[in-house]
Amino acid sequence: GRVPLIAGNWKMNLDHLQAVAFVQKLHWALKDAKHEVGSVEVAVFPPFTDIRTVQTLIDADKIAFSLGAQDLSTHDAGAYTGEISGAFLSKLNCGYVIIGHSERREYHDETDEVVAAKVQAALRHELVPVICVGETLEQREESGPTAVSVGQLEVALEGVPSGADIVVAYEPVWAIGTGQVASPEQAQEVCAALRTVIAEKLGQDAADRTRVLYGGSVKSGNVASFMREPDVDGALVGGASLVVDEFAAIIRYQK
Ligand code: 13P
Repeated sequence: GRVPLIAGNWKMNLDHLQAVAFVQKLHWALKDAKHEVGSVEVAVFPPFTDIRTVQTLIDADKIAFSLGAQDLSTHDAGAYTGEISGAFLSKLNCGYVIIGHSERREYHDETDEVVAAKVQAALRHELVPVICVGETLEQREESGPTAVSVGQLEVALEGVPSGADIVVAYEPVWAIGTGQVASPEQAQEVCAALRTVIAEKLGQDAADRTRVLYGGSVKSGNVASFMREPDVDGALVGGASLVVDEFAAIIRYQK
């Protein structure tokens, strides 16, 4: 079976000092958790400037959180002012990198082709890409619930080998930071369609193994309803991942 992944995308929140306090508090909040050890994978995605600090902390205190970055360069090194290479992230023991978040697509003009190049960059450095897809409300009304996400994922998976380790996140743009959560049925419908894309592009083994997450206004009160759906294997959490008790409650969801 697929190990559920609960991922906290901090976005541009928490400086490196706040990050230390946050990770320590979250670790303590989960310490006497009743859930089986290893039943859920927890990952945090801090800003670049926090990663070294968080990595040192989770190493020193043997905290079982996975670590990821929110973006990376399509290039490995060179004259690209302001960019961060996958090689650097790998060296910091990042396991994951978010790619193609709708905020990057919208505010930084990331096209499907840029997203695909970033997926390749991640795989070159043994980072697991968390490939984000999702439609706006307009697109949903125009072309239905699955077409945009399916199209985005098809491009992102071009040239990805069938054995590659990837994560896919369905984040409907209209549900991000709006409090307007998708229904579990809506999430299931698109996540199932995305799994079909993985099967077509990478084969059935990859489709069975790959975790497909839902993201968009996930809270402790609704996470279980998503996790009950057969094709939803976890959550990519924004706002609620910044509140210790709330994120801890999300991690401890009961089906
Ligand atoms: P919210 O949980 O704040 O809606 O954000 C979702 C998201 O964009 C996670 O990547």
